[in-house]
Amino acid sequence: MNTTSFRVRFAPSPTGYPHVGNFRTALYNFLLARHYRGQFLLRIEDTDKERSRPEYEEAIYESLRWMGLDWDEEPVHQSRNLARHQEEARRLVDTGHAYRCRCPAERIDALRERQMAAGLKPMYDGMCRDKNYPDDGTPFCVRLKTPRTGFTRISDRIRGEITVSNEEVDDLVLLRTDGTPTFNFAVVVDDHDMRITHVIRGDDHLNNTIKQVLIYEALGYPLPQFVHLPQILGNDKTRLSKRHGATGVLEYRDQGYLADAMVNYIARLGWGHGDQEFFTREELIRLFSIEEINKSAAVFDPQKLLWLNGEHIRAKSVEELADLFAEHMRRKQYLGEQTEAFLRDRGRIQQIVACTQVRAKTLDEIYQMVLFLFQEDLTYPEKEAQKFFRPDALQGLRALAAFAAAHRDQDLPPEAWEQVFQRVLNKQGLKMKALAQAVRLALTGTVVSPPIFDIIGLLGTNRVEARLRAAVEYAEKHAGI
Ligand code: GLU
Repeated sequence: MNTTSFRVRFAPSPTGYPHVGNFRTALYNFLLARHYRGQFLLRIEDTDKERSRPEYEEAIYESLRWMGLDWDEEPVHQSRNLARHQEEARRLVDTGHAYRCRCPAERIDALRERQMAAGLKPMYDGMCRDKNYPDDGTPFCVRLKTPRTGFTRISDRIRGEITVSNEEVDDLVLLRTDGTPTFNFAVVVDDHDMRITHVIRGDDHLNNTIKQVLIYEALGYPLPQFVHLPQILGNDKTRLSKRHGATGVLEYRDQGYLADAMVNYIARLGWGHGDQEFFTREELIRLFSIEEINKSAAVFDPQKLLWLNGEHIRAKSVEELADLFAEHMRRKQYLGEQTEAFLRDRGRIQQIVACTQVRAKTLDEIYQMVLFLFQEDLTYPEKEAQKFFRPDALQGLRALAAFAAAHRDQDLPPEAWEQVFQRVLNKQGLKMKALAQAVRLALTGTVVSPPIFDIIGLLGTNRVEARLRAAVEYAEKHAGI
């Protein structure tokens, strides 16, 4: 492949929040551009004035930035190319490849109704096709003079050859009566002007591609290569949509998914490299190729994404994960005004991620696992309290509280706690599990948490003492336990 001329684009319409399907298209374009050392361009298809909104456009940039899909060159706004679209439409009329159609909307509607009633595919009947109407102020739209005979072929890099008889294709409207371009016409002119070499998009665009190829031919533009990506389905095998749960990329970010995991997972939706599931970004860029894109639809599996996210969390260094966790906490503002103060203590953030990294599957879970740090006046679930706050365990808690009291305001190393635990176990004849669960419940209000000596380290000696005492007091008050 001539790698100096690989130019691809992601062309979203800012008419809704970008979802996983959009970003699969963006990602494949990006990976191939980086793989072939080409350019990855962005075109905002904002010609639908009614439905396009600045917040959607912003969400597109934000999602791309978050996923690390940095684009080359300034984004192109399709709506700003109007003059160019009109110029090319006029050229097609002048060269006899298109014509001005003066049929009023009522006529077109009536025609369509008649054809539908007769069970025919609605098509323009060519009334104005050979009239050569000039531009004399009479309202008109511009239609393509689609060849009446022959065939149009797409040579798709994934699907192979697709051939459609020209009889099946309408005299497409290129410019509407108000002078605005139709979707297919604008896409072709813009792709040509942006010197796009490979058009990579979902295979729901295959029908458009046939029309676009006819437009390319009429305009005399060289054809780009076409790569139509297989559909993404939900677990019920219907097209992925909101019904299947979260599909917005930023929704996943906000739930504490890592961009690297998202990129990895989305890359696998329609592409594979042997049995490998875990890929770093660099590996994807190195390995990604058009040849390994699948023909068949991919199924979006949130459970697998969650699993993969856990794998990416474990693959990070403590420093990297601390940064990602801090970013997540800043975004979520769970701690309100306390957030910034909390984030300033980098050592503490690292301590938190170091002891949760092995088990957490999302950044949010890391926070959930250390929630006890931010709670005062813990409550204890009744069933667990009955089970673990037994008299012998309470004796243990008292002994540990006394130990903490003797070391107030001191940072004790884990070994010091391990020793005192051992002494208490020997003295009370307790099992480690029974003592550890009682301590865990006393310190966190739950019976699942990071390792016991880690949570003691995170709380610090004074808070450990206070919590042990509060638990003992609670257990004494609720006699019968
Ligand atoms: N704007 C179109 C879409 O969002 C993409 C058009 C294209 O990739 O050619 O589906």
